[in-house]
Amino acid sequence: MSSACASSRRRAAESGLLSLRVTVLGSGTSHGVPSIGCDCAVCRSTDPRDHRTRPSILIELEGAAGGDAPFARAVRSILVDTSTDLRMQAITNGVRRVDAILFTHSHADHIFGLDDVRRFNQMQQTSIPCYADAETLANLKRMFAYVFSPPAQKGGGVPQLSIFRIAGPFSLGGVEVVPVPLFHGRLPVLGFRIGSFAYLTDCNRIPDESWPLLDGVRTVILDALRHRPHSTHFSVGEAIEVVGRLRAERAYFTHICHDLGHAETNAQLPSGVELAYDGLVLTI
Ligand SMILES: [Zn+2]
Ligand SMILES: [Zn+2]
Ligand SMILES: [Zn+2]
Repeated sequence: MSSACASSRRRAAESGLLSLRVTVLGSGTSHGVPSIGCDCAVCRSTDPRDHRTRPSILIELEGAAGGDAPFARAVRSILVDTSTDLRMQAITNGVRRVDAILFTHSHADHIFGLDDVRRFNQMQQTSIPCYADAETLANLKRMFAYVFSPPAQKGGGVPQLSIFRIAGPFSLGGVEVVPVPLFHGRLPVLGFRIGSFAYLTDCNRIPDESWPLLDGVRTVILDALRHRPHSTHFSVGEAIEVVGRLRAERAYFTHICHDLGHAETNAQLPSGVELAYDGLVLTI
């Protein structure tokens, strides 16, 4: 066992976490694939893995959640971002519970499904804690003014959310969530690490100070938009370099545009690296 591996196991043990089940709810870029009005081979593909909704994952904590606090045991299902496609993602993947939401940043493709959280409020009869950095929280409050400053007549209701500003690692469901600062062009965004797993979407640079936070990560879901360079997303080649530097055992690329056909791209990727697809489930 490598020391990195040992330390990540030790972290997992300390956090009371036995395993994670990660479901890729959406693996597509902001337009989704197929893209409206496009007749390219990928948009017309009949391979279901070429159908990509807007980016999001669900992390389910399995095993013994440590701690005595009832809240710690209550959190089992963590949604990362509320994508434009949240409703259909939840239906397609049988998501029946969301105990907390982590936001990476406030671009439309990552937040425009926020209203669909109402259904989880109804089913769970509770508000849902949301975690984001200060800028993302400010943007959510502005872009969803009806949620945070609701009118007198609520109609079908508004999402019931409790807001928490991320200022460093925090505990959720008895496990440690480590925010990982990334750059998405010039925009600071957050990746998230839990145990030996990291989700790093919407980025094209990992700053020096964030690399130590990723030490010992064995499974990563990483932004890789397309082959050609882009000003705010890693290309496939850049993402492969990041995987090498991380020394991750398994890497799955996400936020994929219609330039990349699933089967043909996968066939060219190094071993241990593949494209994610909607509905992919990882056990970590
Ligand atoms: Zn995005
Ligand atoms: Zn297309
Ligand atoms: Zn973005």
